[in-house]
Amino acid sequence: MNAAQILERLVSFPSVVGTPNGAIVDWIRAYLESHSVEVRVLPGPEGDRANLFATLGPRDRPGHILSGHMDVVPAEEAEWRADPFTLRAEGDALHGRGTSDMKGFLAAVLASVPALKAGRLDRPLHFAFSYDEEAGCRGVPHLLARLPELCAPPLGAIIGEPSGMRGVRAHKGKAAARIRIEGRAGHSSRPDQGINAIHLMAEVLARAVETAQALEKGPQDPTFEPPYASMQIGTIRGGQALNIVPDLCVADLEARAIPGLAPRALLEPVHAVIGSLAARGVDATWEPLSDYPALSLPADAPLARLVERLTGAPSLAAVSYGTEAGLYQEAGIASIICGPGDIDRAHKPNEFIRRDELHACQAFIEALGQGLSPA
Ligand SMILES: [Zn+2]
Repeated sequence: MNAAQILERLVSFPSVVGTPNGAIVDWIRAYLESHSVEVRVLPGPEGDRANLFATLGPRDRPGHILSGHMDVVPAEEAEWRADPFTLRAEGDALHGRGTSDMKGFLAAVLASVPALKAGRLDRPLHFAFSYDEEAGCRGVPHLLARLPELCAPPLGAIIGEPSGMRGVRAHKGKAAARIRIEGRAGHSSRPDQGINAIHLMAEVLARAVETAQALEKGPQDPTFEPPYASMQIGTIRGGQALNIVPDLCVADLEARAIPGLAPRALLEPVHAVIGSLAARGVDATWEPLSDYPALSLPADAPLARLVERLTGAPSLAAVSYGTEAGLYQEAGIASIICGPGDIDRAHKPNEFIRRDELHACQAFIEALGQGLSPA
């Protein structure tokens, strides 16, 4: 099967983030096993979804990880011109949910298996395919925890998020949380008998805005736009009517960290307000939604040089989106982003990847394999 044919199969599985992924995992496992590649399926604690890990070449030597996520964001936009889960060719462009982000990369990796098997790999290539990346990298930590039993300490990880096949050495980290405050309903004419959840949330919001403003004047890293860590409240809901004391208010907030700052620590001043509300007897809860660290690979790192040599293009200093690369780096593995397609097409209707982009990625992976083989 060529990469486009494999992509057609991968897109046909509506592996939407937050849903069971057994069907796509089974198909990938069967494909790899049909090429005599040993596969480990690693179920997550949810019980109905799994990461997948496979190795080509000698397991006991250090090699490179090719990392991609199997989940996709939902495809409910009205602007889709056809079924998002049926791959559709328009000239050179292959349309469907996940074609750029990032089943195109998975397809190129899988299509390279016969060539990789034909050459004798001196060092291994590992495929590490994760679930629920789009929910804030929820799946891959479970794979990383098992890594020591799966392979020798790797030389590096290449995360195939869409980057136009340019190496990318940095992105910000991010942590997100949901705040929930429960009050007591009542008629607005008797506020003394109710507990106003929105008024209590105002204390939390004030601290978040204060923190966001302080971050602008905090540590700066000119690699990024903006050069500082940031925070925002993204959603808030609460209240039923003007004359009812609101009994519930829920807000989601996130912080984005430059390298050197821990995303979760940025949220701490806001988290502390929840603690003080709870100490006053308020029913206030804090639910962490996601947390992944920033990525920062030095320009002269061997992995950056390797990717530049294979792509023939200088690496980019930074991108604005986050990836699993930060988590690989945190696990002590040098990491870089390099994958086919364009992030501007991701999470949008009529997402697509071009055939030449798939071919370029496959050539990159096969060259990586050859570079890892004896001359
Ligand atoms: Zn992605």
